[in-house]
Amino acid sequence: MESAATRLAAVEENIARICKPARRKPEDVTLIAVSKTHPPEKITPLLEIGHRVFGENRVQEAQGKWPELRERFPDTELHLIGQLQSNKAEEAVELFDVIHSLDRASLLKALAKAMDKAGKRVPCFVQVNIGDEDQKGGCPIGELPDFLAKVRDADIPIAGLMCLPPADIEPAPFFALLYKLARDNGVEGLSMGMSGDYETAIQLGATHVRVGTALFGPRG
Ligand SMILES: *Cc1c(COP(=O)(O)O)cnc(C)c1O
Repeated sequence: MESAATRLAAVEENIARICKPARRKPEDVTLIAVSKTHPPEKITPLLEIGHRVFGENRVQEAQGKWPELRERFPDTELHLIGQLQSNKAEEAVELFDVIHSLDRASLLKALAKAMDKAGKRVPCFVQVNIGDEDQKGGCPIGELPDFLAKVRDADIPIAGLMCLPPADIEPAPFFALLYKLARDNGVEGLSMGMSGDYETAIQLGATHVRVGTALFGPRG
């Protein structure tokens, strides 16, 4: 089996290779190592070789794993990439440095309240339902300008836009659409691309890629 270090080096090399013809700097693409479902002993090797940006999709699972890991590696940056229930907003604000799934008014209200209470502002990506899928979270495209205005009014720092394109079809048009939406709405960051499509996402402007399987192997 390949080591975590080998896999990390391979992904970083791919990122650098893709950035070059796209005239982008590799350091402008943040690699979020998605460690969901993986135990601390699989995460530690990446921390030990210096990787510091990780993503989890469940508040409860992250609460179980990260406080201890962070004691050893206090400069770790933790991203919440999964859907968030409003009743978990306080815990999410406490634990995470960035939230990628702000997608509706009720959650916005809960997060603003939680941030006021904690006395900290956690930057959030606004998730867009880019493929207009019923089963997926995300703000509908048509409501995005209004929703972004609400986020700004609530004094929540906007890290960018995030999307999860529909499964099993070419993702490039969806990435290109997210790029356009960000540009039209004056938003900088773009959280898009996973193990299977992060190279395409970077070509189309991703600033944050969320990569799990390519770093940790398959989830059990
Ligand atoms: C699990 C997950 C990823 C990582 O997926 P891989 O295919 O394992 O790289 C990225 N983004 C979100 C929102 C996820 O839930």
